Amino acid sequence: MLRMMRTIKVEFFLFCRDFIKKDRDESFMSKLKSKQFFMELEVLYSQISGDKIQIIKNVLTNTYKDILKVYIDEEIELIDEAYTLQRRQYNAEILLNYLIRNKKRGIGLWVVSKDIYSSGMNFVFGLAQPFKGAILSIYRLLNKRLIEKEVVHEVGHVLGLPHCSNNCVMQYSNSLWEAEIKPSYLCEECKKKINLIYSY
Ligand SMILES: [Zn+2]
Ligand SMILES: [Zn+2]
Repeated sequence: MLRMMRTIKVEFFLFCRDFIKKDRDESFMSKLKSKQFFMELEVLYSQISGDKIQIIKNVLTNTYKDILKVYIDEEIELIDEAYTLQRRQYNAEILLNYLIRNKKRGIGLWVVSKDIYSSGMNFVFGLAQPFKGAILSIYRLLNKRLIEKEVVHEVGHVLGLPHCSNNCVMQYSNSLWEAEIKPSYLCEECKKKINLIYSY
């Protein structure tokens, strides 16, 4: 099992619309050793309506029903230190680090309504760190399907999935158009990868 974890390559994409950071999380590995395969996802949000939170909860529960327990936490304020006045955007890396430092459950997701960016990018839809957490901005996601796709995608990264070149929600989207045309579901290969990670 541990060997499989190490062979699943998590890549760091420098010029993607979402970044994935390499990380080895010892607490995650010890959970695997203790055979606890349900991951607890804590969802924080800032200025997101109740119906959108429900959409997010439903799609995550349906897509990752065998491995994820979704807990909707309280609404929190965006942090001033992440705001870049010149760009009028929030720095996704600062938000993600804040989330990782403050989450109370295994993995975290922070959904925000403001536009976010990462170094070298005009904007990002999200930023994820495997086995720790992700930030998702719905600022540019103007319909339900786009929100569903991008939240499944970011949480897929958090659960250990890299980008995928199949017809799959884990396809890398560099633009809104690419996000529009990709499907909202995981391909069979990604489902197998997830099963390898979370079963024994
Ligand atoms: Zn991605
Ligand atoms: Zn796939």
